[in-house]
Amino acid sequence: MSALAKNYNRRKIAFKRGKGSFLYSTNGKKYLDFVQGIAVNSLGHSNPYLIRAINKQAKKVWHVSNAFIIPEGEKLAKRLTQKTFADYVIFQNSGAEATEAAIKVARRYFYSIGKPNKNRILCVKNSFHGRTIAAIFASGSKKMTEGFGPKVAGFDHFVFGNHKSLKKKITKNTAAIMVEPIMGEGGIKVIPDWCLKEIRKLCNKKKILLILDEVQCGIGRSGNFFAFEKSKVKPDIVPIAKGIGGGFPIGALLITKKVATAMVPGTHGSTFGGNPLAMSVGNAVLDQIFKKGFLKSIKKISKYFFNELNKIKNDYPKLVKEVRGVGLLIGLQLFNDQKKFIQKLENNNLLTIRAAENVVRILPPLNVKKSEINLAIKIIRKVCKECK
Ligand SMILES: *Cc1c(COP(=O)(O)O)cnc(C)c1O
Repeated sequence: MSALAKNYNRRKIAFKRGKGSFLYSTNGKKYLDFVQGIAVNSLGHSNPYLIRAINKQAKKVWHVSNAFIIPEGEKLAKRLTQKTFADYVIFQNSGAEATEAAIKVARRYFYSIGKPNKNRILCVKNSFHGRTIAAIFASGSKKMTEGFGPKVAGFDHFVFGNHKSLKKKITKNTAAIMVEPIMGEGGIKVIPDWCLKEIRKLCNKKKILLILDEVQCGIGRSGNFFAFEKSKVKPDIVPIAKGIGGGFPIGALLITKKVATAMVPGTHGSTFGGNPLAMSVGNAVLDQIFKKGFLKSIKKISKYFFNELNKIKNDYPKLVKEVRGVGLLIGLQLFNDQKKFIQKLENNNLLTIRAAENVVRILPPLNVKKSEINLAIKIIRKVCKECK
């Protein structure tokens, strides 16, 4: 019997090792892994470059307190700011910590300019920002918050896609709007560029901050470094995590100079956040993602994958409702519950994971090979045939 609490609904499968896009189970099966730890292993399993980086740093120094200067973190922060809108970075260990830090920075900013009553965060109903006590109430999901009261104050919600409700929900107490440019857990729902632009305009008009949660859709997953880049919108605060560590737990908050001025010494901290070991892995991940042509290659293979998936949709119009997403953050929306479909894919050695709205979420590593996409397509076709 397992001594682990039952808070996960685990599949009955365990792995002894991984290599690139593949996982090898303890009972001798080889799986094409298009979950990759839910968009975490951006460069696949056991990436030799990352192994070298972690080994090299492990022999030097793993952890020192943020009471000291950490050169590896200085370097990672510098690179993140040079390539993005951000002026400053705060390192964390996970996505939820990063979104919580985003909320803290937004509130502290208004406090610092003498407007402490501007402290409410406006979020999408049933979004996902992590599982900490504040983050679940930010999501506004009944399922995630049930039994975890009292309700954390300071969050308002609008319905995805409803601009009127969004406008109406902004009050004099609103500090920020927080959205995922592509809703991951919510079912791979993409906010169109024009819509992100409108939200930015609204934030400017109301003098409030824009927080874009790129924990899942960021770090190359969309084919751009950030999913919002395509829209040309400039956010104030961007939490990241998942893909930046390539499997090592790293979270971070990217912020502009304007809001960073509020974060004076003592306002925020993390024991583990930004330690040398984590930072060295983060730098190694960026070495690969910033390589010339890497993002372009994601766009190219994504186009091919979407084409093939859309062909499947056309061949099975009563089964597949929509193929959606951007880059390698892909959702195959079915007309019916996707549980059986995902199980059948697994039976055929392809690992995928659910998202809301009957979506089968497909998350290859960013360095996936065309032959691996072809293998996935073959398996998905086979399962569609079985499910017809
Ligand atoms: C996964 C995720 C989080 C939470 O990340 P954790 O590392 O699980 O805390 C937050 N926001 C988004 C958009 C996510 O996909």
